[in-house]
Amino acid sequence: MPEGHTIHRLAADYAGAFAAGDPLRVTSPQGKFTDAAALLDRTPLRTTDAHGKHLFLGFGGAPGATGPADWVHIHLGLFGKVTFGPAPAPPPTDTVRLRLADDASYVDLRGPTTCALITDGEKRAIHDRLGPDPLRPDADPDRAYRRISRSRTTIAALLMDQKVVAGVGNVYRAEVLFRHGIDPYRAGRDITAGQWEAIWADLVALMREGVRNNRIDTVRPEHTPEAMGRPPRVDDHGGEVYVYRRAHLPCHICGGEIRTADLAARNLFWCPACQRP
Ligand SMILES: [Zn+2]
Repeated sequence: MPEGHTIHRLAADYAGAFAAGDPLRVTSPQGKFTDAAALLDRTPLRTTDAHGKHLFLGFGGAPGATGPADWVHIHLGLFGKVTFGPAPAPPPTDTVRLRLADDASYVDLRGPTTCALITDGEKRAIHDRLGPDPLRPDADPDRAYRRISRSRTTIAALLMDQKVVAGVGNVYRAEVLFRHGIDPYRAGRDITAGQWEAIWADLVALMREGVRNNRIDTVRPEHTPEAMGRPPRVDDHGGEVYVYRRAHLPCHICGGEIRTADLAARNLFWCPACQRP
């Protein structure tokens, strides 16, 4: 599943593709979003927004209005994909849920878990039930800590709970816990305020870099392949990491074996020597 940096990147890319504010052709070749697409057709994309793994495309609204009238709410889920291309758009396949197009470019959305037309109020309700997102300027990390510091749940599970922190997925949770030497099985209530402050600041920095580079890199300069004289990582996720998908390989720092286990329905990776209980 894409992590938050991918969704924020998509929000910027959608906005960049249609920044001119021209009315767009909005269609649903697959047919599952046809009525909503017809309502939005020939209106401009006014703005985009992202919160965690949720993407919002804002359309319409009266001139001078404070915000868009309608939002398309998108959650990619496990299988959703977005493809950008230059005009002319090729004939759409019947898997395209939503196509936006103008004279310069087109964007196709396929296979999302959610693609729905919602009101501004419904959008606010989605924000309200999500935890703070390290990539949003309005994020309040103390809100997350209030929940974490009261919880007996493991910090690894809490970091994946979108109601606690929004946008962190399996890669960032494993990597940030490694970078701070924190055992993934430590209970939330045993994480100190100082530790949380450091984790949050690190998530902000790592995820911003993820948006810029469109991939997840988490190793410090002294642990890059060049610095260590080791071969670069080979993995379809790209990026240099400490523990994610490195089960049974030697830790870049201590040389011990990276472990894996199932936690919160996803594979967890950690180094038991560097992340002591
Ligand atoms: Zn280690």
